[in-house]
Amino acid sequence: MATVFETAPSIPNQLITERNGVRLYLKREDLLHPDVSGNKFRKLKYNIEQAISEGQDTLLTFGGAFSNHIAATAAAGQLSGFKTIGVIRGEELGADLEETLAKNPTLKFAASCGMKFHFVSRSEYRNKTSEVFLESLKQQFGNFFLVPEGGTNAAAIKGCEEILSEKDVEFDIICSSVGTGGTISGLINSSAPHQKVLGFPALKGDFLKEEIRKYTSKNNWDLITNYHFGGYAKVNGELIAFMNDFRKKHNILLDPVYTGKLLFGICKLMEQGYFSENTRILAIHTGGLQGISGMNNYLKKKSLPQIDV
Ligand SMILES: *Cc1c(COP(=O)(O)O)cnc(C)c1O
Repeated sequence: MATVFETAPSIPNQLITERNGVRLYLKREDLLHPDVSGNKFRKLKYNIEQAISEGQDTLLTFGGAFSNHIAATAAAGQLSGFKTIGVIRGEELGADLEETLAKNPTLKFAASCGMKFHFVSRSEYRNKTSEVFLESLKQQFGNFFLVPEGGTNAAAIKGCEEILSEKDVEFDIICSSVGTGGTISGLINSSAPHQKVLGFPALKGDFLKEEIRKYTSKNNWDLITNYHFGGYAKVNGELIAFMNDFRKKHNILLDPVYTGKLLFGICKLMEQGYFSENTRILAIHTGGLQGISGMNNYLKKKSLPQIDV
């Protein structure tokens, strides 16, 4: 059966800037697919392949109300002939679905792809890996193929191992944003021994290194933990100004949750002379642009500057 994943286009890396002999290139994974963008394309590929080979007809997954993973799973599911169910954090969002969809571009898009929602409280949501909870979902929705929150599992990491191509051995440092750690694990697994992989977590907390070690046994990586801007989906005026400036200079949109913080961090480190002369850096644009309009709604409500699109 043909899937949307069979033909990942090959997109050349783009030179962003050169400073004191340090060159920064961007891998435009955001251009892989208009609706299944960036690392979510990579993470879903082998999961959907597996669901097809198991003869499943429904995908069920978990996510927050603005999640790139929810949007991508809804789109990829529709394009591959699956029914999709999104278990969404936030019981209150289910009270008036029409109002929720009017306010939330992510869920509106997912619904337009045919995704059905199951809204749960934050405490229920914490059971997302419990057998009892999953069994109760099967009672309610019938059989499904489970894609975990954020899409991270062994199949996802196998897909993320395909982000780097043979040509990318010319880079010294690979930089990526980190959420659950699946994407960086794939990058580490496929990196060459002379390369170092630097992860920029988009959230606070020390649990990530342990997560990553579950999926890779290599040691050529590290995390740069001071560019999360206060935590997951938190932004400030400095970050928004940086993203707007980046767009103006390079004509490339960044997302406010992951890639904006990644590029901000890399550019700051370049300014500080963190990288030695002649270092070639490859940053991964992991996509996520669907999240911009939800963030702009929020910024507008707070009368804060918005992301230019
Ligand atoms: C989901 C996501 C990430 C985080 O990926 P993990 O595999 O969870 O670490 C990074 N960037 C973007 C744009 C994402 O949507």
